[in-house]
Amino acid sequence: MRQSKLFTKTRKEAPADEVAKNAQLLIQAGYISKEMAGVYAYLPLGLRVQEKVKQIVREEMNAIDGQELLMTALQKKELWESTGRWDDAVVDVWFKSTLKAGGEVGFGWSHEEPIGEMMKNYITSYKDLPISVYQFQTKLRNEMRAKSGIMRGREFVMKDMYSFAADEASHLAYYEATKPAYMRVFERLGLGEDTFVTFAAGGAFTKFSHEFQTICDAGEDITYINRERGIAINEEVLTDETLTTLGITRDELTKVTTAEVGNIFNFGQQKATDLGLTMKDTGGADVPVWMGSYGIGVTRLMGVLVEKFADAKGIVWPESVAPFVVHLVALNTDEAEVRDWADGIYASLQARGVDVLYDDRDARAGEKFADSDLLGMPYRVVVSKKLKELGQFEVVTRQTGAVRLLSEEELYADFATN
Ligand code: ATP
Ligand code: MG
Repeated sequence: MRQSKLFTKTRKEAPADEVAKNAQLLIQAGYISKEMAGVYAYLPLGLRVQEKVKQIVREEMNAIDGQELLMTALQKKELWESTGRWDDAVVDVWFKSTLKAGGEVGFGWSHEEPIGEMMKNYITSYKDLPISVYQFQTKLRNEMRAKSGIMRGREFVMKDMYSFAADEASHLAYYEATKPAYMRVFERLGLGEDTFVTFAAGGAFTKFSHEFQTICDAGEDITYINRERGIAINEEVLTDETLTTLGITRDELTKVTTAEVGNIFNFGQQKATDLGLTMKDTGGADVPVWMGSYGIGVTRLMGVLVEKFADAKGIVWPESVAPFVVHLVALNTDEAEVRDWADGIYASLQARGVDVLYDDRDARAGEKFADSDLLGMPYRVVVSKKLKELGQFEVVTRQTGAVRLLSEEELYADFATN
């Protein structure tokens, strides 16, 4: 994409009304636009990142037989009443509205109930199972606090998956299979080392649920970890009983600030019992289906990536989700010869399957470099009159600042994907 055509512009200063680094940088760089507290629009660059995160999640959920669908944002009051979760005293994040035609609706903050209800149309016998479905949905939640930028939105994108199984063994096998699938997602985002499967508060059916907590100063959770033993415990469930159950002592754990980037819940047969979602078992009896739910905070993850990897100059995207892999920065473009040559390099990179943002603007070198640092593409490729004469390209790795001089051939060899 030509930067001269990009409608978003970088700002000189971070917005004064944001306290969270992720929102400050993302707004300053033109990735997102603030509509109101906790509500952000995703602009072309921001949307590209979001889509890349989603694609990674999609591939890993498909790999464990997840089938993608899309549920509705408007939800039935009566359905949530049937499971006792319509009441604001029970669920404190509801946005609700009334229909002109009469009746009330809720705005989807979660989709366990609607998906479970819908599945009654498709599950009649154990032979229909197992099923796993997932979606990327904009959830609406009336969060009390919205000071963490996109890490805690009133409107945010979540991947939520729901599993349905005929018996406990296959249900638990699926629940366990989601853990490595989730960890693959976080590894591909460059967060693998700092993300922990964490024991957290359970529900009606289990003692614990599992959260995926990523070490991040801007996070809202406190987690106690032991890297060697691969144990992590949310502060909320750090009791003597938990320590005994897990066979670890308090001294072996280190306290860290984390952000919850995902979580998984084992409902057993409780949720299906509440919903009346049953199947015929092998003996022909009607029994409740085994269910689990599995969330990943897509937009929160984007915020975590900014918080963790940004430096004093701006954002630093991991290559896997950067809006563009290469930021081609052309200097001396007032000279037709240099400009034509830079245009040619841009076309050649694109023809080789490279995602390129091409700074073809009429601007000073200093401004271009500052913008390039702020935007945070993994590699900056500089072309200039002098470099052209030398037949070289200056390639700067954003994360390390390492500089390499490459020939045109080497440049293509480095970045070509086809
Ligand atoms: P939290 O404890 O942070 O309030 P939660 O336990 O309510 O989150 P779920 O409802 O299970 O989370 O949502 C699944 C995932 O969605 C969470 O693990 C988190 O990554 C993300 N998420 C939850 N609430 C928000 C929010 N307000 N803004 C952005 N992401 C969120
Ligand atoms: Mg939570």
